[in-house]
Amino acid sequence: MAERYDVVIIGAGPGGYVAAIRAAQLGMKAACIDGRAAPGGTCLNIGCIPSKALLQSSEKYAEARNGLAEHGIEIGEAGLDLAAMMARKDKVVTTLTRGVEFLFRKNKVDWIKGNGRIVAPGRIAVAANGGGNQEIEAAAIVVATGSESIPLPGLAIDEERIVSSTGALAFDRVPERLAVIGGGYIGLELGSVWSRLGAKVTVIEYLDRILPNMDRELGPALQRLLTRSGIAFKLATKVVSGELGNEAVTLELEPAKGGAREMLAADAVLVAIGRRPFTDGLGLDEIGVARDPAGRVTVDDGFATNVPGIYAIGDVIRGPMLAHKAMEEGVAVIERLAGQKPEIDYDAIPGVVYTWPEVAAVGKTEEELKAAGIEYRVGKFPFTATPRARTNGDTDGFVKVLADAATDRVLGVHIIGPDAGTMIAEAALAMEYGASSEDIARTTHAHPTLSEAVKEAALAVDGRPIHI
Ligand SMILES: Cc1cc2nc3c(=O)[nH]c(=O)nc-3n(C[C@H](O)[C@H](O)[C@H](O)COP(=O)(O)OP(=O)(O)OC[C@H]3O[C@@H](n4cnc5c(N)ncnc54)[C@H](O)[C@@H]3O)c2cc1C
Repeated sequence: MAERYDVVIIGAGPGGYVAAIRAAQLGMKAACIDGRAAPGGTCLNIGCIPSKALLQSSEKYAEARNGLAEHGIEIGEAGLDLAAMMARKDKVVTTLTRGVEFLFRKNKVDWIKGNGRIVAPGRIAVAANGGGNQEIEAAAIVVATGSESIPLPGLAIDEERIVSSTGALAFDRVPERLAVIGGGYIGLELGSVWSRLGAKVTVIEYLDRILPNMDRELGPALQRLLTRSGIAFKLATKVVSGELGNEAVTLELEPAKGGAREMLAADAVLVAIGRRPFTDGLGLDEIGVARDPAGRVTVDDGFATNVPGIYAIGDVIRGPMLAHKAMEEGVAVIERLAGQKPEIDYDAIPGVVYTWPEVAAVGKTEEELKAAGIEYRVGKFPFTATPRARTNGDTDGFVKVLADAATDRVLGVHIIGPDAGTMIAEAALAMEYGASSEDIARTTHAHPTLSEAVKEAALAVDGRPIHI
């Protein structure tokens, strides 16, 4: 007889594994299925975690090469052992995926290694990784199958010379010239890694600015700083074709608006033009689960699809493709199944770009507020005027707070600067609580910390920053 569960989650990424653990906490009999050898999904295996491990290592390398002399530290020339750097990254990944396996055991979640296909509401066929098939039953099924890189027609990914983010996390030598197609966060983060390690990196972006989805001031500000660090940019440019030669990959480029074409030769090309929902092999069409034109599984506010008993969360549904968004949805879908009424404030989900300096944002951009006809006030404060940034020698960037002109409620916070990704948590919490800029301005921030720039930007909304 088929094993019967209260809930089965397909996909053990941040959405799926968190949902499985929460289900177990609430006393449900839960299983989580994934076709990968290790749990953690894209994020732990080929996404957030390995990229941040390489960003950290490459940042230390760049600092050792160029950043220590100003502190009076002499170390001679720093050398690179790329194999050791990669081995460290792999170890970080293994430690964390084993951590998820441990959490599954601790919470008595059944971790099923194989590919799942929904044969009918409540029934899933699993093709086990080791061979063999099994069918399991579930009162509720949660689809958490995530996303995959979007390929660029005419540039077949071989993960060696023409790579997706996965290949760019595993080069066995530093490419002399790396072309990055796409100026979003994945292209900029991985471009930064290889630029710091010595590659001559060129970022090609179809739109007229990098980070096109963020507040208009952030992309150009980051571009200036990355240009200073040695990365070249070709904006408003499209890749028309690519040719894999013996010596190089040659890209043919054309201005987005049309015009004279040019060639760009590179030793490796990273295609980072975005990600799309992944539902291959799940059997959604056969059972009639609706998807939108972008291929995302359509869900209501409670993550229910149009087929009773089938739910979906994470990258495979609408909203930002971010690990923490998937995790929140993993908790919320299960709590709803348990009769609770959790709500996610999608306006308070932060987004972070882990370049140096980091870029982080939560809430509305100025463009969004203008488009919605909302009157707002702006408070800005630069890190040059923040004492801790001076002591650290990291003074690039600023904090920008946007507050409702009538109520002073914080509508958005945008930061480019050192540790922006950590600082944005304060702004997200403020927004969750419906705080005003005055609330942030009146909150005591420890001195000297980088977070004082957030307080000063909040003071600046009312025209009364102290240190500028
Ligand atoms: C290079 C890179 C860097 C990133 N950095 C960050 C970051 O710093 N911060 C951040 O928030 N986000 C980051 N992301 C995005 C983040 O990885 C995703 O938003 C997140 O993993 C989505 O979680 P998920 O649970 O929806 O899906 P996923 O993590 O994609 O997991 C889905 C899982 O489902 C499995 N699966 C699919 N179909 C089946 C099936 N039929 N049967 C069984 N299993 C199946 C897949 O094998 C996969 O393991 C990054 C992504 C990339 C590529």
